[in-house]
Amino acid sequence: MNLAIESLLIHGGIDGDETTGAVNVPIYQTSTYKQDGLGKDRGWEYSRTGNPTRAALEKLMADLEQGEYGMAFASGLAAINTVLSLFKSGDKLVVSDNIYGGTFRILDNVFKNFGITYQIVDTSDLKQVKDAITDEVKAVYIETPANPLLTVTDIAAVADIAKKAGKLVIVDNTFLTPYLQRPLTLGADIVIHSGTKYIGGHSDTISGFVVVKDKALADRLYYLQNAIGGVLSPFDSFLNIRGLKTLGVRMDRHVENAGKIAAWLEKSGYVEKIYYPGLESDPGYEVQKKQADGAGAMISFVLDKKYDYKKFFESIKLVTLAESLGGVESLVCHPASMTHAAIPKDVREKVGIVDELIRLSVGIENADDLIVDLEQAIEASRI
Ligand SMILES: *Cc1c(COP(=O)(O)O)cnc(C)c1O
Repeated sequence: MNLAIESLLIHGGIDGDETTGAVNVPIYQTSTYKQDGLGKDRGWEYSRTGNPTRAALEKLMADLEQGEYGMAFASGLAAINTVLSLFKSGDKLVVSDNIYGGTFRILDNVFKNFGITYQIVDTSDLKQVKDAITDEVKAVYIETPANPLLTVTDIAAVADIAKKAGKLVIVDNTFLTPYLQRPLTLGADIVIHSGTKYIGGHSDTISGFVVVKDKALADRLYYLQNAIGGVLSPFDSFLNIRGLKTLGVRMDRHVENAGKIAAWLEKSGYVEKIYYPGLESDPGYEVQKKQADGAGAMISFVLDKKYDYKKFFESIKLVTLAESLGGVESLVCHPASMTHAAIPKDVREKVGIVDELIRLSVGIENADDLIVDLEQAIEASRI
């Protein structure tokens, strides 16, 4: 039966437990498995290599992304580390100019030391992507909408350019989840997630995912997953399966709330700049509408000069000042000193991540309550 994503979230992957009929996948809290004789295992050998709870989640993520092979990791960065380990000294990556700070850090301070280099371009500008592709480039790595400026990159157009040149396309799909965007169907080769965000959805677990369609690529990634070993634990796999069951209803509310807040902020007179691809005034609006089923629930903005952003952070009450995003509760952060502190100030400011930038992860509370809180915090920060 061909299920829609709302049903797949609940019945996709491995649905429940064959042996007992338990409606939930059991937590197989075991490191190893009895073998019935030499070379006679029952499909499981050692839990770094494979674990039934993790496997159920991996299959579910593959189904949701309309891929074939899924892998679950102990964090989004463990997933990114594994994907970057596909490359070797002398290889180069073309990377979106505003990406998650930790992705920049692992490229700049870890993989660069191994001779894998990168070039940062504005991937929303296809000419820049085209011009950056040289022989040594092996992949284009994009985030869309990107963190924290919500820049939208046309995945199909980038895939078209990269495919013609024989390069891989890697998409970090954390901000939208497969519920809103499925990059593999748009021509991407590898999808990456920090499951810590919307997939887990409750700010109570750290996880990461990789999904691909191609068997040869999957074989290399499975090899690396086992060789590097940054796998997701059985309990955290359970939490992610549980989180995914409500992803659809959560994302619907996240997006609805974000739409209301963005529209209010835009016409409030409180902001000098607002970044949200669900607003018609946003440069990414058309591409976002074409390639995704919603604009997500991340909004970034710069307050008008009449307001002091530092005071705003001290005055916010219902919304929590914290790193991370994608949980049921609304969070606000200061990218320059928090999520993107790993990026040097000059690099940051060149792409627009100014000190005054505020990033809001809109939760699933009542939207009017959130607006009341934002308004009182902005009013309290008047200079
Ligand atoms: C959080 C995040 C990551 C890193 O994931 P962790 O689970 O924190 O390791 C990668 N990409 C994006 C877009 C993120 O928001």
